[in-house]
Amino acid sequence: MKFSPEKYRIEDRSQEVFIDEGEIWEILSQVNPDKYQVRDVIAKSLSKQRLSLYDTAVLLKSTDPELVAEIKEGARQLKEQVYGKRIVLFAPLYVGNYCVNNCRYCGFRAGNSNQQRTTLTMEDLIRQVEALEDAGHKRLILVYGEHPRYNADFIYETVRVVYGVKKGSGEIRRVNINAAPLDIDDFRRVKEAGIGTYQIFQETYHRQSYAYFHPSGPKKYYDWRLTALDRAQEAGIDDVGIGALFGLYDWRFEVMALVRHVNHLEAVFNVGPHTISFPRLQNASGIERTKLMPVSDNDFVRLVAILRLAVPYTGLILTAREPAHIRDELLTFGVSQIDGGTNIELGGYTRQKEEQDLDQEQFEINDNRPLNEIIDELIRRDLIPSFCTSCYRLGRTGEHFMEFSVPGFIKRFCQPNAILTLAEYLEDYAPADVKDKGYQLIDRELNQIENVQLKTNLLKKLELIKEGKRDLYF
Ligand code: SAM
Ligand code: SF4
Repeated sequence: MKFSPEKYRIEDRSQEVFIDEGEIWEILSQVNPDKYQVRDVIAKSLSKQRLSLYDTAVLLKSTDPELVAEIKEGARQLKEQVYGKRIVLFAPLYVGNYCVNNCRYCGFRAGNSNQQRTTLTMEDLIRQVEALEDAGHKRLILVYGEHPRYNADFIYETVRVVYGVKKGSGEIRRVNINAAPLDIDDFRRVKEAGIGTYQIFQETYHRQSYAYFHPSGPKKYYDWRLTALDRAQEAGIDDVGIGALFGLYDWRFEVMALVRHVNHLEAVFNVGPHTISFPRLQNASGIERTKLMPVSDNDFVRLVAILRLAVPYTGLILTAREPAHIRDELLTFGVSQIDGGTNIELGGYTRQKEEQDLDQEQFEINDNRPLNEIIDELIRRDLIPSFCTSCYRLGRTGEHFMEFSVPGFIKRFCQPNAILTLAEYLEDYAPADVKDKGYQLIDRELNQIENVQLKTNLLKKLELIKEGKRDLYF
């Protein structure tokens, strides 16, 4: 059946009424945890079980500094156990900023006449991708405003063009997208392009706030957006990303709702989202974030640690909206993916500009370090920068990916693949000092691998990379 935002009513598909505000608030108000409960919940998460809404509320309601410290320590341990030391790197690429919606927090809102509107031509797109490849990127997320011109065929074409750009040893091996909700047929079309993750944020799961922030355009239909990923799954896209924009409504509510969304997808499709994003509201053209509902740095760090514990196997993405010091801190408490060398101006990757012009961009970013600096910093902290795309290439996504997300998988596949993609980066793009430090890190990692066969295979592949072979993975 074909749905559209205007015609879509949640009553049509009752199983999808999965955000019950009354239930979320009731649980939050009932819970008054003591330290033993908090410790039990942390222990449950460390045994790699996903937390219930009630468990999540126990963590959210713990304000005692000692318990907050224990929650953060739990998140740190879990991250190390499940994800190891690797941090996946990507870059956003804005394709067009025309938009028919009027989201009150976004520089692209239709009513913002100061915003200069552009859609990259396919030639422009190629130039941007070449610049990103020259920096060493292998994974991109394409971002679009919501506009009839950014329909499924356009998205399909842009994704295919990006995959086709090869410069030197450069290539983009995974193209994720962040785009407006589609109907099932259009999701099928987008899937045919070979996308990695389809990502969409509910912004706020609180209906009344949602209505306030989205006064006009198709985005005003809360249910249509909430159920986008159900339609994506029905269209066969089993790799999806969810998110909430923190700063629109109470952050505790949004964390509960994100966990509920995960439960829903797991219950109905047997696979949860691949990633969760938690953008925090930033200044934008004509918008001061402090006038909305700012989330403090302390609360932000807490909420990320709680999300880490609540959904042990879901990747957590933190973008350059956040300043370097928050990004660096949060790498410890659970973030598994970050962007690097980010520029969100349309066509910005081929311009040299120090200052952002918010009339050409969606919002302010606070970490504009180039990719090589970010990689240098990760290496300095003994973290392994990864450009790995192997699971997606080998079909280990969705339900299959969940099977692989078991203890040991990361050690056998993700960590070695991170090392291989780091070696490629070091050979092709790293400044000399970063190359030295990078290979020292690889040597330290190799020394810690106990599985002899794995180590031998990895060493062989590393030699091949030094000889010029590329795109090797387990
Ligand atoms: N037009 C698509 C949509 O709305 O789904 C693409 C979204 S937009 C280009 C990517 C995300 O940026 C939005 O979903 C929103 O969460 C976030 N965003 C918008 N304005 C923001 C702001 N002022 N600060 C931080 N994030 C913002
Ligand atoms: Fe348009 Fe998306 Fe910005 Fe809303 S958040 S105004 S839909 S680009």
